[in-house]
Order: sequence, then C-alpha cells, then structure tokens
Amino acid sequence: MKELLLEMENYAKEKNVPIIEKESIAFIMKFIKANNIKNILEIGSAIGYSAILMASSNQETKVTTIERDETRYMECLKNVKKAGLDKKINVVFQDALEVNLSDVTYDLIFIDAAKGQYTKFFEKFKYFLEPNGVIITDNLKFHGYVGKSASIDSKNLRGLVEKIEKYIEFLKENEEFETKFYDLGDGLSISKRKNESK
Ligand code: SAH
Ligand code: MG
Repeated sequence: MKELLLEMENYAKEKNVPIIEKESIAFIMKFIKANNIKNILEIGSAIGYSAILMASSNQETKVTTIERDETRYMECLKNVKKAGLDKKINVVFQDALEVNLSDVTYDLIFIDAAKGQYTKFFEKFKYFLEPNGVIITDNLKFHGYVGKSASIDSKNLRGLVEKIEKYIEFLKENEEFETKFYDLGDGLSISKRKNESK
C-alpha cells in the first residue's frame, strides 16, 4: 500500500496531476474516523489517491468517485484494483454535472474537481447529503492566489480565482449551511447543515 501511494505521488508529479496535500488528507482521514463516516461521494477522482486513502480510513467506509477525464479514470481504476479496494470504491466515468444519482445519500461529499464549478457542484450535490452529513471542499487557497485575484495578469487564471473567491462568499453567506474554513494544505472547508429549528 505504501509503495502504491509513493508510485501514485510520483506519477502525479510527473504528469502534473493535482493530488491532495498530505496535511489535508490526513485531516480528512481523521474526520472520517472520528465521525464514523460510511458513505462518501467524491467529485474529481484524478488517479484515485484521495479516494484510496479515504476508503482505507475506516473499515466500513465506501467511496463513490466521479472523474470525467478518461486517462485519469483508467489510471484510477488500475490503482483502486492494485490497492485491493475495488469492493469499497466505485469509480464513475462521467462529468459530475451530468451524473444522475439515484436516491442514495452520503455522509460526506468531497468537492475536488474543476474549481470554477464549485458552486454548481455544491448546489447539485447538497440534495444527496445525509441530514448530518458534511461537504468538504479542497483548494480554497488555490496555491495562494485566492484573495489576490485583482493583481493576477493572466485573464484565465484571474477568472478562475475570482470564481473560487465567489464560492467562498457563497459559503459564508449561505443560509442553509454553516461553513468552517481550515488553513491546511491548499485550504479546506467543512460545511454542515444548520439546525432546522433555527
Ligand atoms: N481528488 C483527487 C484530485 C482531483 S484533481 C486527489 O486528491 O487525489 C481534479 C480532478 O477533477 C481532475 O482529474 C479533473 O479531470 C476532474 N474534474 C474536473 N471537473 C470535473 C467534472 N465536472 N466532473 C468530473 N470530474 C471533473
Ligand atoms: Mg484538490
């Protein structure tokens, strides 16, 4: 397992695949254990690095993970098999915004795909969250660019960073969800439904 993870880290470095930072995944794994999380939905599998670690956090934890890039999807399948986790991880090859989920609900939804679509992912998948479930979002700092969009020259990059800044505002002002922000790795948040009685 350790060897496989190392292999994956090297592959990610070589091919520029943005896998989660160690600090962040350690935090998520601890959260999964502490809260006895069983069903996880991940948006953005890449090569399966975070899915494999989340699925191995707890004996009963299962992960459904969605990836739209075929090469990464294939790589993810291969790694999940190598890890011996094909019974615990279900890899779906589709655009998350087009996925049709049946009436399943999740204890944890991990948003880690196209940064410009974070609000859309949140709005779509919140309906598949258990009443006490949480939505965790990665890369809220986006390599330190977030909060500095005005000073970014590249139009594409600026647009993307602005979208993350808007997503953070969306979370802060959200009436349905309470969000805590963590200055870990590339920036992480945990959103939880507010108490109904409020
Ligand atoms: N969670 C992974 C890293 C994911 S990187 C890890 O930490 O190990 C983000 C991935 O999301 C990329 O592979 C990209 O192809 C995928 N992605 C981006 N937008 C998507 C979408 N709309 N639907 C499905 N996958 C998407
Ligand atoms: Mg990430």
